[in-house]
Amino acid sequence: MSRKTENKGLVIVYTGSGKGKTTAAIGMAVRAAGYNQKSIIIQFIKGTWKSGEGQSLKKLYPQIEIIPAGKGFVKILNDREPFKNHLQAAQAALKLARQAVRSHKYQIVVLDEINYAVKGNLVLVKDVLDLIKMKLPSIHLVLTGNYASPRLIQKADLVTEMKEIKHPFQKGIKAQEGIDY
Ligand code: ATP
Ligand code: MG
Repeated sequence: MSRKTENKGLVIVYTGSGKGKTTAAIGMAVRAAGYNQKSIIIQFIKGTWKSGEGQSLKKLYPQIEIIPAGKGFVKILNDREPFKNHLQAAQAALKLARQAVRSHKYQIVVLDEINYAVKGNLVLVKDVLDLIKMKLPSIHLVLTGNYASPRLIQKADLVTEMKEIKHPFQKGIKAQEGIDY
């Protein structure tokens, strides 16, 4: 039996309090790269600090493009960035997202941590709903981050909630290189 299937662009949401949302989105892009499908990963919150995925996905360019468009976490992790800078960065990321979802270049568009950007009032939920509306029908759009808006969940075709059962952070164990960043 042929595994070639008809392409239907899905709206995919990875949300919930447990770990694995960004990892799942990256895994999907890596899988797709095996078929020479192109993905763009736009990181809404993460800023310029180093990440393993940033380094290794460079090796998968041009199948995967990863763009750190954020200014770090808003109001946590010793955030000294003024709110207006976060807002500006999120709006710039949104502009990139609008271009990406209309581009024939990509099969997958990942908006990493966009749910936090909505939750933190950096992006309007309406703007994300508009992205869903305007995207090319063949593009898979992946939205990550906890606190996904019910309106996005309602529009999505696939929603997975990562549920925290245990996290080493609860025991005071710090983020581990290669596992957390
Ligand atoms: P990952 O990037 O590891 O797939 P994630 O995308 O599900 O995690 P985020 O909410 O984006 O998680 O959080 C980013 C960072 O916070 C990551 O370093 C992750 O390991 C850590 N983290 C995720 N879930 C938890 C949790 N339940 N408790 C503490 N830290 C967490
Ligand atoms: Mg994440």
